[in-house]
Amino acid sequence: MTNEKKEMKFPSLKEALETIPKIHGHVCTASYLGARMGLYAMKHIKLKRKKDLAVGVEILTCAADGIAAATQCSFGGGRLIHLDHGKFSAFFGNWMTKEAIRLKLNPAIDMEHVLYGNALSKFYHDLPKITMEDAKKRKADLKKIEDSLIEKWDKISDDELFILEKADLDPNILKAPLDQQYISKPIECESCGDITESSKTTVKEGRSLCKTCAGIFGE
Ligand SMILES: [Zn+2]
Ligand SMILES: [Zn+2]
Repeated sequence: MTNEKKEMKFPSLKEALETIPKIHGHVCTASYLGARMGLYAMKHIKLKRKKDLAVGVEILTCAADGIAAATQCSFGGGRLIHLDHGKFSAFFGNWMTKEAIRLKLNPAIDMEHVLYGNALSKFYHDLPKITMEDAKKRKADLKKIEDSLIEKWDKISDDELFILEKADLDPNILKAPLDQQYISKPIECESCGDITESSKTTVKEGRSLCKTCAGIFGE
């Protein structure tokens, strides 16, 4: 019982915000919102064990780090996957009970964040063409906007920041597949000799090759 209670304790927002800089560099707008989103989700999903939780983030990698800090689901642990859907939202599921929820940003907050993101993206686009002095000034102005957004959201309740809905999906799909977590059928690539999971190799001109040697890097 003691163990179960200890295991089920998720970080406070303060603790999650202290973790983010260690994995992300600093607390940015998206990692802040990700942490809030993750903690809000933990209040709404029934879990007996932390390891039954799996998360699929539908956007920004920054948000994924905030969610990881809050939920302790990580890419490395196989229970946090990136879904390239281009939306600031995430699925949270208990793969044992099959319960799943989805959280998204309130549209007004979402648009506010998009506008800031556009300004930041324009800055990085312009960066090679502007002077160091201009760059410093523009970055400082952006930092002020970032800080003021986080300060503003910090005063807003979870129900005002997010929209919560039930999700119709099997939470098992939010976990990394077993053949990404284990090398259960190892074979040697016939070009580089690396030990490789056989289901990931390709036969090319009669030889079993790893993806790198077959020229399909990263897929
Ligand atoms: Zn970030
Ligand atoms: Zn190879």
